[in-house]
Amino acid sequence: MTEENQPQIIFEAPAVRQLNMTGDCPACADWTVRSNRLADTVDLGGLYIRSESLRSVSLTNAYSLAFDMLSDYSAAVINRPAWQILDRFHFPAKFSTLSDVEDHKAARALVELGFLKPLTEPHRHKNTTTPNEMLVAWLHVTDKCNLSCDYCYLPKLGDSMSPETGKASIDAVFAAAKQHGFRHIKLKYAGGEATLNFQRVLAMQEYALTLSEEQGVPFEGIVLTNGVGMTSRMIDEIKRLHLTVIVSLDGIGAYHDAQRVLTNGQGSFDLVTKTIDKLIAEKCPPQISITITDRNVCGLAETVDWVLDRDLRFSLNFYRENECSSSFADLRLAEQRLVDEMQRAYAVIEQRLPRFSLMGSLLDRTHFSNKHEYACGAGHNYLAINQDGGIAKCQTQLAHPVANVHMSDPLNVVHTDESWLINLPVTEKEGCRECEWRYWCAGGCPIETFRVTGRWDVKSPNCRIYQTLLPEVLRLEGLRLLKYYSPASFIS
Ligand code: SF4
Ligand code: SF4
Repeated sequence: MTEENQPQIIFEAPAVRQLNMTGDCPACADWTVRSNRLADTVDLGGLYIRSESLRSVSLTNAYSLAFDMLSDYSAAVINRPAWQILDRFHFPAKFSTLSDVEDHKAARALVELGFLKPLTEPHRHKNTTTPNEMLVAWLHVTDKCNLSCDYCYLPKLGDSMSPETGKASIDAVFAAAKQHGFRHIKLKYAGGEATLNFQRVLAMQEYALTLSEEQGVPFEGIVLTNGVGMTSRMIDEIKRLHLTVIVSLDGIGAYHDAQRVLTNGQGSFDLVTKTIDKLIAEKCPPQISITITDRNVCGLAETVDWVLDRDLRFSLNFYRENECSSSFADLRLAEQRLVDEMQRAYAVIEQRLPRFSLMGSLLDRTHFSNKHEYACGAGHNYLAINQDGGIAKCQTQLAHPVANVHMSDPLNVVHTDESWLINLPVTEKEGCRECEWRYWCAGGCPIETFRVTGRWDVKSPNCRIYQTLLPEVLRLEGLRLLKYYSPASFIS
């Protein structure tokens, strides 16, 4: 058999993929991450059938990406001979019908990936998909900010979190994790501008490190910053306390300055990029959060190029109109221009694919890290804590807390409360129920859907954008796998 006639399958081991996956929108509540594993044991004696929800995205003449739309994450690049093996299981068949030893090995891999399924359990697609693994908390350490971004949702009253509230907030998060059986915690120190109350960030992180060790619950702490006032001393402290950093950068030069200005009206681009370069030089590379509006969308491709130049992870997030920003009509996304410019940015990425995966960060709230029913964790595994210790369901609703850090079980209140935000599973959203992308898109930000439609139970107003671009995100992932992994390393 010549090499091109051999079945070839390229995929990333789940543990490596987890490390390679870039997180999604820093400002939003991650849905919990689960580590997927390939099947431990494969009984090759019975009948197998090709998964009916397998989708193929063409990459090159020889290779396609195979992705199972209804199973837990399974993506692999496969060549034509490997597809031919899948086709032999279009109807139930036994492995014994495969005579060639290489075909046999490849078929086994296809079973491990979930592309071939045992006939006895052909419908393993569950509707409940994600166990509670990670509790996420937004810690609003201050309402103050040194910027005045046009799309900001905060009225900025100038209050900051006190030492007592900071400690009570960390206590409340760790207690909620224990009560509800979460295995990981993610703390997002945010504002306003978190560096304007940096002593609080440090004290809360130190306390969280102590509780984490005492209680055996791992956590990560992230500082969300506009990058304007981060000093070298702050960077030293960030490294000392194992914090990571996410910086907002919305464009290069005038594209950034068009929407992220200092309170005196001057642009902040130069200050922000100096901080980013300083963080890189200090071996503390930040993740970049890019918020896309109609003002900066034409500079997106250039921005992505700049970020890739520095080998930084990034996420692309859509602007959401809010009470404070509604007077700036020119921020509103124009659907076709957004799609065109996203495609231009994807073309830049295709030319210089990074080693890390962008499956979780290239398209607003969509996420391919694992099958999920909810677009975000709001109302489920998320506590957005304001400067007074009030707990809201989402960081955009900090003025409307439904619980507080002194309650005995605030997460239970967040789960049961029906005011302000109802985050339904995608299977309960009209227009989404039958969509092939439902477990990867999950119907978009519920607040944005409600703002536009007045309903919680319908598909996202960005649906057409998602449906157009999701196959392209998959294609980029396939090209990344093709670039960095050798098929020979798998089929040997
Ligand atoms: S409701 Fe929308 S804005 Fe709030 S956390 Fe979820 S996706 Fe983000
Ligand atoms: S919003 Fe659109 S793309 Fe997303 S799950 Fe619903 S129907 Fe599918």
